[in-house]
Amino acid sequence: PKPIVAVVGRPNVGKSTLFNKLVGERIAIVEDTPGVTRDRIIADAEWQNHHFTLIDTGGIEPHTKDDILLQMRVQAEVAIDMADLIVLLVDGREGMTASDLEVANMIRKHDKDVILAVNKVDSQSLENNVFEFYNLGIGEPLAISAEQGLGLGDFLDEIINRV
Ligand code: GDP
Ligand code: MG
Repeated sequence: PKPIVAVVGRPNVGKSTLFNKLVGERIAIVEDTPGVTRDRIIADAEWQNHHFTLIDTGGIEPHTKDDILLQMRVQAEVAIDMADLIVLLVDGREGMTASDLEVANMIRKHDKDVILAVNKVDSQSLENNVFEFYNLGIGEPLAISAEQGLGLGDFLDEIINRV
């Protein structure tokens, strides 16, 4: 069976954008409204002849602001349970937030292998933004830009090294 890699993180960090980029198709729906993922969230991905199953997490469209966090939690828990490897995605433009820490703590309880990826590092001038994420206690932060396709080769190498 193919290893399962789950992308988790608070709403709006770019999980669906990254998922689409890695899967090579526009499957998950990217929305400017935080937390919106309405379409398929599981797909096969491949790098250097290594195949894995990728899971996007997000949520059904929430009714209230509180539901966003509840949905995020439920979806993340399910995905983390299924996964062989977790990608914790955070936003290098916004910086570390309380929700990032909450997701990190959730992951820690499961005792699974984690890659910490700092998204939206669209240019070199933003690279210093990654360091504060060491404070999540998850390990070394890896800078990527899902939108610009930056850092994804190293990121994928790291995935296939760990599964
Ligand atoms: P999700 O809620 O974590 O699935 O986030 P989405 O993939 O829906 O993206 C949320 C917003 O972040 C959208 O407006 C994306 O276009 C934007 N976004 C995603 N990746 C990047 C990136 O690498 N750089 C920048 N600047 N914006 C990004
Ligand atoms: Mg999404």
